[in-house]
Amino acid sequence: MPARKRRPCCLKWVSNLIDEETKSWKVDVLERYFYQHDVEVIKTIKISWRPSEDFVTWHFEKSGCFTVRSAYKLGVNLKDVDSGLGSSNRHPDGSRPVWKKFWFLPIPHKVRIFAWKLIHGGLATNSNKHRRRLEPDAKCSICGSEEETGYHAVMQCDHAKALRGAMRTCWPLPEERHLRLTGPEWLLNVIDLAEADAAGQLILILWRSWFIRNNWVHEGRWINGSASINFLTSYWDNLVAIRRGVVDEKGKCPVGDIRVRSIAKLPNADERWKSPKEGWIKINVDGAYMESSREAGIGVVIRDSSGSVLLTAWKFISDAGSAEEVEALACKEGLTLAAEWTKSTSILESDCANIIKYLHQPECQRSASAFTIQEALEEARKLPSVVFLHTGREFNLVAHTLAQLARRLSHSAVWRNRFPFCVEQLVARDVNSHAS
Ligand SMILES: [Zn+2]
Repeated sequence: MPARKRRPCCLKWVSNLIDEETKSWKVDVLERYFYQHDVEVIKTIKISWRPSEDFVTWHFEKSGCFTVRSAYKLGVNLKDVDSGLGSSNRHPDGSRPVWKKFWFLPIPHKVRIFAWKLIHGGLATNSNKHRRRLEPDAKCSICGSEEETGYHAVMQCDHAKALRGAMRTCWPLPEERHLRLTGPEWLLNVIDLAEADAAGQLILILWRSWFIRNNWVHEGRWINGSASINFLTSYWDNLVAIRRGVVDEKGKCPVGDIRVRSIAKLPNADERWKSPKEGWIKINVDGAYMESSREAGIGVVIRDSSGSVLLTAWKFISDAGSAEEVEALACKEGLTLAAEWTKSTSILESDCANIIKYLHQPECQRSASAFTIQEALEEARKLPSVVFLHTGREFNLVAHTLAQLARRLSHSAVWRNRFPFCVEQLVARDVNSHAS
């Protein structure tokens, strides 16, 4: 079974891929429908000269016969094989330690699939398409200066280099001298040598570079560097939060206490949320925005001076314009809910410095969020008094987690005097930090 069909295929039988006269593979047909690395694997399959019945084979065992042992080994080593992508890996049992490391890198499934394709030369680059006569020119569509191989597209092209350079100021990436094209397995070698986090971060940057390239090539839309830097840093923060057990990759809250126990590193006590003064409430809000799908989530938590939760809310937004717009909507939502349910002197906290600035000086801004800011201020006027404060992301984790929950589950809700299980630990931690 190949990693992926190159394009929809109307051929029904394997025999359509075989030249009956010469008993050999029709390489031109293979190349039309499969990626090069799969073509190479298929070509190694010997074809019988005698007419014989087709049979199903289990290729994770040398014998081709299914065994429970091989299935178990496969399940353990290739958690991600359900995508079908692991199947043309020539070491499907994960016997090389670097593959095992690869499958356990702290990156999401879809990013791992991207990296897997990159390692196997399976990205739909101009070079690959040209070889299959799908593209007249193998040159890079962005810089036009070189053949667009996978390495060029995500490592060498100017935009990829610039993004990687910028991200070096945020993340401790492997040194450039270790990222040279040493051969087809250059990325595997990097993964082998680097710390898992550094390798994961590098792959995220490569993935983003490929996304930028695709947006330009297929949609004529250029994504600027600062948007990518913001995207990557917040994406990584989310992954770290997931790893801490706050919420899992699919946005589901833990059902038992398994993940709760796995929360290992908590910030210092003085780096935590602070409760408001007696008689005040604090509204923490946050937004989560996914540029590729334009889907977003808003999270709101309202607490009193004892840290007790008066209200939690999360809201899914299907077609958001920008991360900033989502942050503005989160502020508006938090103020609306506070005006409706608490009517107390309030502090509104957001980790988006721009939006807090706009709320302080609504007359001096003409951003795309201007109308939302005006509406937020109208809601604020329904409260006795509101102070707008900027806070660090690390102090805003409950709202952050609720926003993620909304986006990942495409779900909205308002809960009074209670909170979902996925923020239980964070709420408790905030209260404890207040007490200490
Ligand atoms: Zn280029």
